[in-house]
Amino acid sequence: MWLALCLGLPPVVVLLALVLTQSLSIGPALAAAAVIALFAGIAAWLLLADLDRLAAILDRMGAGAALRPRESQPLLPFFRPLAAQLAHFARRGAAEAARLAERRGIDETIVERLPDALLILDTKQTVIRTNTAARAAFGAEIPAVLRHPELRGAIGRALASGTAETVDVTIPVPTERTVRASILSLNHAPSSHIVLVLSDRTREHAIERMRADFVANASHELRTPLASLIGFIETLRGPASDDPPAQRRFLGIMASEAARMQRLIDDLLSLSRIELVEHQPPTGAVDLAVLLPRITAGFEPRLAERHIQLSLRLAPNLPQVIADADQITQVVQNLLDNAVKYGREKGTIRLTAEAHGAGASFAVTDDGPGIPRQHLPRLTERFYRVDKGRSRAIGGTGLGLAIVKHIVNRHRGQLTIESTEGNGSTFRVWLPAAAAKARGSAP
Ligand code: ADP
Repeated sequence: MWLALCLGLPPVVVLLALVLTQSLSIGPALAAAAVIALFAGIAAWLLLADLDRLAAILDRMGAGAALRPRESQPLLPFFRPLAAQLAHFARRGAAEAARLAERRGIDETIVERLPDALLILDTKQTVIRTNTAARAAFGAEIPAVLRHPELRGAIGRALASGTAETVDVTIPVPTERTVRASILSLNHAPSSHIVLVLSDRTREHAIERMRADFVANASHELRTPLASLIGFIETLRGPASDDPPAQRRFLGIMASEAARMQRLIDDLLSLSRIELVEHQPPTGAVDLAVLLPRITAGFEPRLAERHIQLSLRLAPNLPQVIADADQITQVVQNLLDNAVKYGREKGTIRLTAEAHGAGASFAVTDDGPGIPRQHLPRLTERFYRVDKGRSRAIGGTGLGLAIVKHIVNRHRGQLTIESTEGNGSTFRVWLPAAAAKARGSAP
């Protein structure tokens, strides 16, 4: 209304002046005023409508929304370049906003899906953000984790120096684990943050410890017979140099110590050869009904030494198994060897085989003293023995069952050990059937 008045006022003033100076009569002046009022109204309406459109464009730009084409087209031609420019900015703004939203979504997904626990802390060490891995690993224990003295110290150092810190800590909650904490201080004014990444290193630590233990154990096992050999050589050169009966006795002991070293080295080499191919399952097919009798035949002399009977019972419907014949021979030999060593003198060893699930299993059972329950889970560890002295005395290396376990793992099979003290032990091996290769699953 006011706009129409402003637009119409100047021509009306001119008309009034013309009427007052009697240059124009009142009739035509009124008609001209009516026309001027109509045009002023239309012009005001057009201007307001276009200003509304421009305001709508600015509104949508502010909200980062896309423009509706009809809305952004002004009615008055002289507004069109301005509207076009605004529309261009609006489109650029919307595209930028969409790009930022997409980037933010990707960043969010990366943070959430990181396999390691990630925590963001403020300068007061209050947690302001965690990712899925952190919540899954530590849950409600996050405050307790952050109270760990070494971790607190490292976070404090990172905050003070503004640099990165790395520290390995053992965290007792919720379950004990070793984590490597990488701490990064982000100093961007006006606030600073700490990014804390906790990577679980429990497995790596256990492997490192196992490797160190293995080297120490292997050296120790070799050093004992070696020390005895060196001792006897000294004796043979010195005090026993003129004593043939003592020489014969010492040479006998030396031969058995050397044989022990040889067995140990053979077993160590065997183990490392198996480990080298453990990730490649065998491809051959083996008929247990043919292999098992062949192996037991080779055991006759050892059985005779301890007056042990061997009973072999094979189920008639045995499927062929996917196996490496040499390695399965080694498994059966190691299990029979243990049954002879630890079984009862004049006792019986049973070797049975049957179809089982999508494969076949064979079992070696002795009627020896059995194995106390608490030792069962650790029997397949390298150098683990229930009775160290007894194993050494009867020529054991402590590696037989570790070799069995690794071979069975390579075959994607299963080893189970059952034993009751005083009632003998059963070592059972399951292997996938050759025909069931595709669907082969453990029983
Ligand atoms: P070793 O060379 O000492 O026999 P193994 O790895 O073959 O090493 O066996 C590990 C330990 O498991 C043995 O020292 C022994 O204590 C125990 N063990 C294995 N087989 C039997 C068995 N049939 N009866 C009783 N104990 C056994």
